[in-house]
Amino acid sequence: MSPSLQSLPGSDNWEVESTTELIISPSRSETIDEYDFADQKLFDEYNRIMENKLEVEVEKDMEKLSGCRIVEIDYFLKNVMNLQIRHNKRCTGGRLSISGENRCGLRSTYVFKCNVCDKELSISNEDPKKSTSIINRAAVWATLSTGSTYTHSAEFFSILDIPTISANMFYQVQRELSEVWKDSLWYSMKEAGEEEKRAALERGDIDVAGVPCITVYLDGGWSKRSYGHTYNAASGVAVIIGKHSGRLLFLGVRNKYCSICARSENVGQDSPQHVCFKNWAGSSAAMEQDIIVEGFNNSLTMHEVKYSKFIADGDSSVYAKIKEKVTYGSEVVKVECMNHVLKNYSKSLYKIKK
Ligand SMILES: [Zn+2]
Ligand SMILES: [Zn+2]
Repeated sequence: MSPSLQSLPGSDNWEVESTTELIISPSRSETIDEYDFADQKLFDEYNRIMENKLEVEVEKDMEKLSGCRIVEIDYFLKNVMNLQIRHNKRCTGGRLSISGENRCGLRSTYVFKCNVCDKELSISNEDPKKSTSIINRAAVWATLSTGSTYTHSAEFFSILDIPTISANMFYQVQRELSEVWKDSLWYSMKEAGEEEKRAALERGDIDVAGVPCITVYLDGGWSKRSYGHTYNAASGVAVIIGKHSGRLLFLGVRNKYCSICARSENVGQDSPQHVCFKNWAGSSAAMEQDIIVEGFNNSLTMHEVKYSKFIADGDSSVYAKIKEKVTYGSEVVKVECMNHVLKNYSKSLYKIKK
């Protein structure tokens, strides 16, 4: 746990309170020009008032909230300033002060109470009209997109002294986000497919049946570095990218491991109902081929195109699997990539050394 910043030397200087002095000089012509004085008498009175030093007493609030918060700045400032003004239209002289805070993750609702009429008024740190909290969503999104986890975010907010989201809420938001991401990924791939198809038709790249044919890049990766000779990663990913658009056309993931299944296996019980991410029982090396073959076999239903040429590493196993398992595999041609030719050269050297 990190030490609290509040305990660092010099931090007591941060607190600004007590008397604020506001001096407005009457000699500033632009200040006077802003007002439309009906006669000289009013103008003289204005100058007489402005010659006096104006002091505003700021009373120290006894009930204070501690730490920091994230706020939707425009919404919050406007509303918090209006709250007192609006209240004083009905209750002259009543002063609002904070009486409590209700938190739902990073979304806070502050309750103010009037010292004269006891009325309670509340205001949130973000627009409550939005059904889902943007701040909570953004915090989870930011955590995941920087490759971090709940524990990282909890530590991060703890150092900032911001009361944070519970683990339960974090995972709930994460599930909601995964649905949003899935939808937008699908939409983006669909759009890329249309772009590729249009370009192929314009180029006249069609097969005998008139199906547009396109060139794609293929690549895969594993959760653990393989260096081309030891494949034992628990998960693998592979992608198909259109050469013309440079955009993603297909993406697949293969997982050999699911923590819930593994825990149940350990205690010799049936696993409870859960979203299982285990979808692969074969070897880690075969993950990439399997995803690529699936992508090729879905090219017609997904994008109404054939992936007739592909650029990938020199590893011949993927090409062999395409020829063997893709419905139009016999028509597919491989284009060598210089970068991968070099990689394979070093791979061959490694084999000779062994
Ligand atoms: Zn009041
Ligand atoms: Zn499972």
